[in-house]
Amino acid sequence: MLQDYLKRNITYVRISLTEKCNFSCEYCLPGGWDKKLKDTLSVNELDILLATLKELGVKKIRFSGGEPALFKDLTKVLEITNHKYKFESCGLTTNGFNLLAKAEEWYKAGLRNINVSIDSLDPKKFFEITKVDILDKIIAGIKHAIHLGFNIKINAVILQGINTQDMDDFISFANTHKVTIRFIELMQNNTCTVDYLNKRQLTAETIIEDLKAKGWTLDNSEDPKLKGPAQTFKHQDNLGKIGFITPYAQDFCSTCNRIRFSSLGEILLCLFGKKRIPLRHLLTLEKKEELKAEIETLLISKPKSHHLDENFVGACDNLSKIGG
Ligand code: SF4
Repeated sequence: MLQDYLKRNITYVRISLTEKCNFSCEYCLPGGWDKKLKDTLSVNELDILLATLKELGVKKIRFSGGEPALFKDLTKVLEITNHKYKFESCGLTTNGFNLLAKAEEWYKAGLRNINVSIDSLDPKKFFEITKVDILDKIIAGIKHAIHLGFNIKINAVILQGINTQDMDDFISFANTHKVTIRFIELMQNNTCTVDYLNKRQLTAETIIEDLKAKGWTLDNSEDPKLKGPAQTFKHQDNLGKIGFITPYAQDFCSTCNRIRFSSLGEILLCLFGKKRIPLRHLLTLEKKEELKAEIETLLISKPKSHHLDENFVGACDNLSKIGG
């Protein structure tokens, strides 16, 4: 089992497949993605990385981007993760632009968990935030994916003055669809600056208190080994669940179980860590044992926690480069 110096078990790895994204969300890629991108990891390099992580005892893999569905070999990589290495859990974080078209193919490739990023269920606001006008197609994709048997989570970044009035829309959507809605606190990074944060950030406390007052209770049904950072609530009269990712909360990092790899083969020991450490040169069959030893050694220096409260965002230039 992979462990860091605080004896935190590292069972979950997030892999960014590409920095490309076809949306221009105002808090992430207001100007669109940087066209001068370097080449991403090949399927062969990803295969060696996944084999190595499996041998190191990693249980859960999540693919993100940018927009991972823009990675042309996504289905192949899902097959390798699920059918070849049989990880306990495999997930995808997507903006859902081609979910309707690809859901069946991804299901056959063994994928079962999809997080779709939607910050508003109001088409006008959705367009305002993303500069893309396909909300109805994304919702149709979600309904189709639920029908196929996927576990669907909808990730919504809480944006003061934009979607804070939409909470009830999301809650009623969760009332009629078997999904978990997760509200995520806006996180500072080198693109989402302090000024933007001051204008748009709202911590989740008030929303959580409001839910509790309406009879929602904590849901602890998720396997702690595979669980991500969210706290989730359920309600007996509600089909779906409501979750919160609150990185500014007191002990958010004490149970951290994850590390990340960028689409260029760099390891990030923490999302807001100082460094992105290149490991691409070790992604060969001959160097697999060296890669394993390197990852185990690097974990000794995994940061205890982030320092967002000191406005320190480390090497996190924007979340499209590492997928949150
Ligand atoms: S901020 Fe860093 S240490 Fe904290 S939970 Fe995220 S990755 Fe882990």
